[in-house]
Amino acid sequence: MNDPERVLVVGTGPAAAAAAVVLSEAGQEPLLLEAGSASAGLGLTARVRGLTLAKFRPSLARRSDLTMTGDLNAELFEELAPGGLSNHWACAVPRFSKDDFADAKRAGVEYDWPLGYAELAPWYDRVEPLLHIAGAVSAVPSLPAGRFQDRWSLAPEWEAVEREVSATGRDLLAMPYAYGSETILTRSATAFNAYTRLIKPMSQRGSLSVRFDTRVESLEWSSSERRVIAVVGRCTRTGARLRIPCRAVVLAAGAVNSAQILLESTSVDFPEGLGNRHGVLGRYLHDHPLAKIVVDLGRRVSLAPASYVTRSSLDRSEPLYAAACMQWNSASHMARTLLSGHPGQTSRLGFSLFGTMIPTREDRIAIDRRRARSNARSPLLFALHHPRRAVRELERARDELLTVLERARWAPRLKVFHVEVPGNSVHYGGTCRMHESPQFRRGGCIFPRAWRHQRRRRRFSGLHDGS
Ligand SMILES: Cc1cc2nc3c(=O)[nH]c(=O)nc-3n(C[C@H](O)[C@H](O)[C@H](O)COP(=O)(O)OP(=O)(O)OC[C@H]3O[C@@H](n4cnc5c(N)ncnc54)[C@H](O)[C@@H]3O)c2cc1C
Repeated sequence: MNDPERVLVVGTGPAAAAAAVVLSEAGQEPLLLEAGSASAGLGLTARVRGLTLAKFRPSLARRSDLTMTGDLNAELFEELAPGGLSNHWACAVPRFSKDDFADAKRAGVEYDWPLGYAELAPWYDRVEPLLHIAGAVSAVPSLPAGRFQDRWSLAPEWEAVEREVSATGRDLLAMPYAYGSETILTRSATAFNAYTRLIKPMSQRGSLSVRFDTRVESLEWSSSERRVIAVVGRCTRTGARLRIPCRAVVLAAGAVNSAQILLESTSVDFPEGLGNRHGVLGRYLHDHPLAKIVVDLGRRVSLAPASYVTRSSLDRSEPLYAAACMQWNSASHMARTLLSGHPGQTSRLGFSLFGTMIPTREDRIAIDRRRARSNARSPLLFALHHPRRAVRELERARDELLTVLERARWAPRLKVFHVEVPGNSVHYGGTCRMHESPQFRRGGCIFPRAWRHQRRRRRFSGLHDGS
């Protein structure tokens, strides 16, 4: 276990699983460190040809050791268990598109990415086959087609809606889903839990090992070697302190916990946290603004496959403000169509409206040093708010959806429209930000520099300050 030549991966969620796959293919045998327990009950999912028949899931924990400094109603959820949040996710896997990167660029250098779609696409090509995706095999500007296993198209009656949606500068397609049309019985609460689907089989084949009940607290930086040489943490069962030497580490503990670990990793070289030369670590916290909408229709339509109305085209939206509509299609919705005597047909549709927001420096997590206790994870200062503009965009998406359904003669009647509090969509990001801006390009941000370094050397080089 204490091999200083070993590569460590923190977490067993989707990001850790992807890293573990790539490392194993490169001949490494990484050791994954997971805060959760091996015996955590992850639930059960039974599906026949994509139709969920039964599902049992543990509840999703809301982190409570927070001092709110932004919107006081904001929420922070986490899953400290094998697979992380992939034990709760909806399994929707739309790709980012060229438009998403162009949108960030037109919002200004502070928001631009240090990589583009062309660089991301080969990685999608590599991981998508692992996800057994079913989806629409067509490419539109805001949703590139991926490597799908099964082809889906919307039922013919959706054509009228598709025409009206295109007239608004959006597109309508079947949403791609992981394990979307498979027959499965899996001991997890979702069809794809990153641990049960990828990490556990690799561990059984001996390509990696997992150490459970291991909460990583910080990374040990060596000034002389200019790299991370060990991971420091605690056994969650016994409380014993741990130090695990390594050659390199991949930090994949989720957007908030990864930032917390880096902020806790202070040293003479990095007094404000590892790589945090410009005070951006933990800042620019992002979560998709989310609204729920339910409409009654004047007719019955096919419930599956679930539809996806893409965001507005760039020429019809303000930089970084857009919202997409994702139709609901769960086991309970399908069961209701059976009970109504019209299997698969419904006159009530629900959608999640997924918006975007411009993140600010003020939206952030930081260590709450005043309340820190020696044996426990330090509490956080947590600030997240949704700009008024983001909520207006959700309202605009609602109105456009109602208009296109009206024009398609589906006679929609709005039953529910509800904007959720910040953090509710559980898509946290931004905290370990990659900047392309001139202000941050030199000497500060650890991730793009590690990434560039890796590209130059064409081999895995781990966490590195790029100097
Ligand atoms: C209800 C719901 C629906 C969603 N639907 C979708 C969807 O349809 N499509 C989509 O793309 N995304 C969806 N998401 C979001 C998606 O689940 C997350 O973005 C994704 O799981 C993040 O992956 P990750 O590996 O970065 O982090 P996580 O999944 O959070 O995994 C983090 C891992 O690190 C471990 N960990 C944390 N702290 C420590 C520590 N200190 N030491 C050791 N281990 C630690 C955790 O136990 C966990 O294993 C949804 C989320 C929810 C809750």
